[in-house]
Amino acid sequence: MTHDLFRQDAYLRECSAHITAVTDAGIVLDRTVFYPLGGGQAGDSGVLVLEGGTAITVADTRKGKDADGNPTSAIVHVPAPGQEDRVAQLTAGTAVTARIDWERRHRMMRLHTTSHLLCHVVPQLVNGCSITPDYARLDFAMTDPLDKEQLTAAIATLAAAAHPLTVASISDEELDANPALVKSMSVQPPRGTGRIRTIRIGGEGDAPLVDLQPCGGTHVANTSEIGDIVVTKIEKKSATTRRVVLGFAL
Ligand SMILES: [Zn+2]
Repeated sequence: MTHDLFRQDAYLRECSAHITAVTDAGIVLDRTVFYPLGGGQAGDSGVLVLEGGTAITVADTRKGKDADGNPTSAIVHVPAPGQEDRVAQLTAGTAVTARIDWERRHRMMRLHTTSHLLCHVVPQLVNGCSITPDYARLDFAMTDPLDKEQLTAAIATLAAAAHPLTVASISDEELDANPALVKSMSVQPPRGTGRIRTIRIGGEGDAPLVDLQPCGGTHVANTSEIGDIVVTKIEKKSATTRRVVLGFAL
């Protein structure tokens, strides 16, 4: 069984779990709903609640690292400062309820899904991306100017069309045979397990395909859930890069 429950169901707000390790970096569980920083998306925050009711605040979530500094499959819950005494009492096997800050995560799910819509509206390679609870920014490798109002309107139309999102997977070989599926130059597809997770927007039955690309992040189930997200800024980051910033309408 896989331990990263958020990849099957991004709507899980909590799960029961057991501590498998407590390290200098943080707390590792046998399974979790916490998304670790990666693919441009920020790590989750939240709480780990012990059976007695004691809560450990989790400030961030990161991938584990091996001795050489390479990421491992472990997901490390980083405790907020000032909880050293509580963390010191934790041992492997301790039961916890792992609960994310859902409001914060859902904002990232909405922004992240919108970034996929933006890939449809601006069909250029992405060479940088960051998704936070407050804004998302995508850097497109392009020289043509972009119009803020035009992009906002195009995103709103796609969101209102209520396209469902489908999580699926393809093999490394299928991805190698379809290199155009990879729209990001900065984020590598989540390879390594033989299957690569894909996110498809639209394309069910006869419906038009809006976007299909490898992605390990968390998304809403339908574009109708995106709500009021607008392009807040367009910057000419360099001669060959246009930066688009997404945010929540005031
Ligand atoms: Zn994604």
